[in-house]
Amino acid sequence: MTDAQVVLSCRSLRRDFGGFTAVNNVDLDVRHAQIHALIGPNGAGKTTVFNLLTKFLQPTSGTVTLLGEDITKTDPARVARMGLVRSFQISAVFPHLSVLDNVRVALQRPGGLATQFWRPLTSLNALNAKAAELLESVGLGGDLATVAADLSYGRKRVLEIATTLALEPKVLLLDEPMAGMGQEDVTVIADLIREVARSRAVLMVEHNLSVVADLCHEVTVLQRGEILAAGDYATVSRDPQVRVAYMGT
Ligand code: ADP
Repeated sequence: MTDAQVVLSCRSLRRDFGGFTAVNNVDLDVRHAQIHALIGPNGAGKTTVFNLLTKFLQPTSGTVTLLGEDITKTDPARVARMGLVRSFQISAVFPHLSVLDNVRVALQRPGGLATQFWRPLTSLNALNAKAAELLESVGLGGDLATVAADLSYGRKRVLEIATTLALEPKVLLLDEPMAGMGQEDVTVIADLIREVARSRAVLMVEHNLSVVADLCHEVTVLQRGEILAAGDYATVSRDPQVRVAYMGT
């Protein structure tokens, strides 16, 4: 595989809901400057794994380690402050704010869990330069004054990723970043994720296998809460169990 530093990992992760085991015996290593895909059919346990890693859910058993620290019992806000930041499948931008204001708000809430308007927007001017620089870096430099609701679907997703970057993640978790997109937007988001991952780790749930093949250094396949296969895409896609269970061939 690779020697890149492991920044987020879990071991023997398990989560029961009543008598039902949604995630069982999951080991993951997410590495700096690498893109790791978590794939599997609906109900495989991908969202539950994200919730366990970000501490929105407590594991029934197993451990989670972030940047060398055991975070198994840590709360979600602290985990976010440590640099594990998640973007949700459903867009989290404020539709009535401008593109610039969306990022300014994000910049003044390290940890980024609950939105807290500590100060009125007018007092956030000091953050303008930083926000504009960030937006420039993701290709939204020409849209600073655009109201978020008026952005195309793909650019709204870019803005959403920009708001998570404002939190200076060391590990970024993306939940189906390409969901509902046409090929043109998929290419834009793929390029952005590749750029983002030059200096941080990315773990993403993604259904589009050509995206996974093109973008991801490492792939973990879940089925019924357990790891079916893991490795680079070429290895995983050749796995007979994966072909039967996930790819239908
Ligand atoms: P995926 O994201 O891969 O579609 P999920 O992690 O959402 O899968 O769900 C895995 C399994 O766990 C599913 O069978 C789902 O119904 C179950 N599950 C998830 N959350 C809960 C919950 N809060 N209570 C009971 N069952 C749950």
